[in-house]
Amino acid sequence: MNDGLATVSYIGATILFVLSLGGLSNPETSRRGNLYGMIGMALAVLATVFGPKVTAAGIPFIVGAMAVGGTIGVYAARTVQMTQMPELVALMHSLVGLAAALVGFASYFDPSSNLVGAEKAIHEMEIYIGILIGAVTFSGSLIAFGKLNGKIGGSPLLLPGRHWMNLTGLLVVIWFGREFLNAHTIEAGMTPLIVMTVIALLFGIHMVMAIGGADMPVVVSMLNSYSGWAAAATGFMLSNDLLIVTGALVGSSGAILSYIMCKAMNRSFISVIAGGFGTGSGKPAPKGDAAQPAGEVAPITSAETAELLRDAKSVIIVPGYGMAVAQAQHTVFEITKLLREKGVNIRFGIHPVAGRMPGHMNVLLAEAKVPYDIVMEMDELNDDFPATDVAMVIGANDIVNPGAQDDPSSPIAGMPVLEVWKAKTSIVMKRSMASGYAGVDNPLFYKDNNRMLFGDAKKMLDEVLMALKA
Ligand code: NDP
Repeated sequence: MNDGLATVSYIGATILFVLSLGGLSNPETSRRGNLYGMIGMALAVLATVFGPKVTAAGIPFIVGAMAVGGTIGVYAARTVQMTQMPELVALMHSLVGLAAALVGFASYFDPSSNLVGAEKAIHEMEIYIGILIGAVTFSGSLIAFGKLNGKIGGSPLLLPGRHWMNLTGLLVVIWFGREFLNAHTIEAGMTPLIVMTVIALLFGIHMVMAIGGADMPVVVSMLNSYSGWAAAATGFMLSNDLLIVTGALVGSSGAILSYIMCKAMNRSFISVIAGGFGTGSGKPAPKGDAAQPAGEVAPITSAETAELLRDAKSVIIVPGYGMAVAQAQHTVFEITKLLREKGVNIRFGIHPVAGRMPGHMNVLLAEAKVPYDIVMEMDELNDDFPATDVAMVIGANDIVNPGAQDDPSSPIAGMPVLEVWKAKTSIVMKRSMASGYAGVDNPLFYKDNNRMLFGDAKKMLDEVLMALKA
């Protein structure tokens, strides 16, 4: 493939990526968006592999690497549970970071590089910044992976003087950056490069470890953004325009998503990055049953739940992480269909950080074919709860916690929540009295108009469906 054709293919792929992002912004066009993305990526890979920069001798290596990577990718995609998706995404981000760091080192050693003067300095700056972003993304994403799958605890690690440690690390990185640019030989440049890489790896670990459970959504989207900038940095190092554009698209859309997540949680971006939020007093939040305040809860049976739903004129369903765990979305849709046929006004209230990844609930409901027009954002229906007969909370906890509004000392104080307790009756469906991801108390469970339907969400909803059909 000659230079001209490769450039045209790159432009085509870039346009397809932009169209893909546009399509992904709306559930109704998201399938098309995905398709554009897939075609764009296939075009980009073909234009690169058969492009002018790859020699015929290199093709078998690339094809071999793609076969291995592709097999692992297909295996992971087929075996991963929907609830493990956020962890998988975090792991993928770490690989982008690792790739950027490795490409940085390889470009530095590249014997064919004969740049001099300003061009050499710019290239070395690209290498230094590329490895820096790549290393932070790599180690930060690995810790996020551990936190999301529960191998690492959700409470923030608050080292004494942590902000000073970060600042010192930054100053040392800047100092060694100067040393690196002034180095005359590759050997002399290696020491500052390795020191910076180690600091960047430690910074990535420290940054994510210092973030409390409830603020994890921001970190996930922020690492998504970092992985984009890491890819863009790789593009600069390899002089690949498509990688620069694609990386910038991912980086900026991830940054916008982080901003949206921060707004959804009523947090400032800087305070999340500085860490230590997610628990009120800076002490780790208690986990599990012990986190619940004492009080009486009123249990309800599936048959009684069906009765309440049958008599209701308006119902709002609030899904959360537990719905994903139980894979209850299909039964939820069956119930929705049945109630709609009976003339009940039924809608879904989606909190921006419900589940474990941005858009988690929307994906599950779309998979179950719930019509998009009854799936509403939190802001669209939060005022409607007082006029609602039944608010049905399916495996959600933190996102319906009134403590976020009433208790200034709560670790999630200030986070907007779905005000289900304002409905005539709220029903919370979960297996036990255990707390949610943020590990905090939920006073909702003890409200007079709240009922607890204990059990696995899928099992309980199957029972409710059967009772409704009876
Ligand atoms: P929560 O984690 O607050 O609560 C989920 C609840 O589901 C648990 O209390 C659990 O209770 C219940 N549950 C688990 N399995 C089942 C099951 N099989 N059947 C029924 N219930 C079940 O989830 P929310 O969606 O309310 O809130 C999301 C939380 O995750 C927020 O704190 C958010 O900050 C955080 N987060 C969000 C991310 C995102 O991008 N959306 C990323 C990372 C974190 P029990 O064990 O008693 O059944």
